[in-house]
Amino acid sequence: MSIKDNLNSIKSDLPKGVTLVAVSKTKPNDDILEAYEAGQRVFGENKVQEMVQKWQDLPKDIEWHMIGHVQRNKVKYMAEFVSLIHGVDSPRLLKEINKQAKKHDRVIPCLLQIHIAEEDTKFGLDKTELNELINSDAFKAMEHIKIVGLMGMATFTDDKKQVRREFAQLKSMFDDLTTKLKDNTILSMGMSGDYQIAIEEGSTMVRIGSSIFGSRNYS
Ligand SMILES: *Cc1c(COP(=O)(O)O)cnc(C)c1O
Repeated sequence: MSIKDNLNSIKSDLPKGVTLVAVSKTKPNDDILEAYEAGQRVFGENKVQEMVQKWQDLPKDIEWHMIGHVQRNKVKYMAEFVSLIHGVDSPRLLKEINKQAKKHDRVIPCLLQIHIAEEDTKFGLDKTELNELINSDAFKAMEHIKIVGLMGMATFTDDKKQVRREFAQLKSMFDDLTTKLKDNTILSMGMSGDYQIAIEEGSTMVRIGSSIFGSRNYS
């Protein structure tokens, strides 16, 4: 199957209102262009330098999403163009995004990453940290960021019940947030292996890489 076929088959699977982020990390520009020519405009990357390079080389109507863990000293390189930062997991990172966005006279949309998996290796805030953050005066004073929703990654396991439970937990936190944040509209959850479950549990944005572009080689 070609990239175009994979993309079309996934798109036909997605209900209306669910946005597809094509995760193109480690993939060459030719692969991205093939997806672009098939109509895809939203792409996700997890390394800032790689995303900057691709932004420079590829059509300017692509929306670039940063889906990976972000180091504060890298924010400045993407502040000019990034469309959505999915993995915001600390007040200090948010503060830096606000500062860099201001330099470009932008408001950068961000998702707060929530820790839902059992593994300790996955980044993210817990419920208490989330509430502390959004209730803090520092957060309220940030005019160059906009929290538009939440993001999370389920445990990497064959236990579908567990995955479903973790997504349901994130959805419930997302619903609670709606009363507190007016721009809370995006729930980013679901990858190649679990996006159907994520959609059933209320995802509005799925991040899919290998099912579109094939498996990745890390060298
Ligand atoms: C790589 C990655 C994905 C896509 O994973 P696939 O299993 O290839 O679909 C989604 N979300 C994040 C945060 C990722 O790093």
